Amino acid sequence: MLQAPPAEPGMREDEVDTPALLIDLDAFEHNLDTMAALLAPTGAKLRAHAKTHKSAVIAKLQMARGAIGQCVQKVAEAEQLAWGGIPDVLVTNQVVSPRKLARLAALAKICKVGLCVDDPAQIALAEQAAEAAGVRLPVLVEIDVGMGRAGIEHGPPAVALAERIAASKHLSFGGLQAYHGSAQHMRTPEQRAAAIAEAAARSRRTVEQLKQRGLDCPIVGGAGTGTFRHEAASGVYTEIQAGSYAFMDVDYAKNEDAPPFRHALFVLAQVMSRATPGVAVVDCGHKGVAVDSGMPGVWQRPGLRYAGASDEHGKILIEDGEAPVLGEKLRLVPGHCDPTVDRYDWYVGVRKGRVECLWPIAARGAMA
Ligand code: PLP
Ligand code: MN
Repeated sequence: MLQAPPAEPGMREDEVDTPALLIDLDAFEHNLDTMAALLAPTGAKLRAHAKTHKSAVIAKLQMARGAIGQCVQKVAEAEQLAWGGIPDVLVTNQVVSPRKLARLAALAKICKVGLCVDDPAQIALAEQAAEAAGVRLPVLVEIDVGMGRAGIEHGPPAVALAERIAASKHLSFGGLQAYHGSAQHMRTPEQRAAAIAEAAARSRRTVEQLKQRGLDCPIVGGAGTGTFRHEAASGVYTEIQAGSYAFMDVDYAKNEDAPPFRHALFVLAQVMSRATPGVAVVDCGHKGVAVDSGMPGVWQRPGLRYAGASDEHGKILIEDGEAPVLGEKLRLVPGHCDPTVDRYDWYVGVRKGRVECLWPIAARGAMA
């Protein structure tokens, strides 16, 4: 059930009901502008990953600053973006359920929508769905560029899949999906550079072999917030799929030489107990903020450490400085933005201490 919004435009931030998901609009806009400025000289385009924000509103703002489309992981996310008016959506995943493929093919009537494959059986299923819907779907071949998750071997096996797509009546060969996820949080710039040099080499080799077989490769897509500067500079990647850059989380901020994005996403939490000496308990545990990539930070309160999360309690240790009082509201910086966003129905956009806007997180919970 959609929850009532926790705030109204014009309210002061400290009046917002908790826990609530805040976007600091100045920092967020800075992040969108920074990404656009970093990519402009490289020629690589942004196809931002909507698994981070799950919102057609944010997708539109990214596209107003030059993004050429959006990525999603789930068909249900693609639906929310397509229904929200986004013209170009790529599912950066394999889809093997005929029912989901039928839903995806139906979207092709209202926007451009593509998907990825790494097996001939997926091509046959996509062809059936596209034929039944009377549409033509662009299909990318996902290659393994080093993370050992999805993705067929680069080179000849990938070329064979591309030829099969090109020979399918209701599919077109859309290019290569070449995402290296495990490189994103490698802490040193040298590790990240080496991983993406290998990913770019595998991609380049495959593009050359496609060309030898007479196949044009319109897209080479991949990259996340941790590595995109390398993919963008490679001369091989045409599309950058970063998502977290818009919000920036604690985990990405731990990367050495982290890109110059600001923390723009916060969970506003309230101190609900001060009974234990040295401890402030807030009303946001791991149901309100993701802890899979580490505990949240406490914004601009270096003496406070969020040390433990239970379902609905967050335990903050008062190690130094001013102790928060009962009822005080604190901003938490999520360790990992994507799953944190998925816990909320509304973004509360704030600027200079005031609520400016409320945006629905329409694809929240979109798992199918
Ligand atoms: N592209 C794909 C296919 C992904 O799975 C991800 C994240 O896991 C990303 C891009 C990058 O996202 P982020 O910038 O949030 O790390
Ligand atoms: Mn993530």
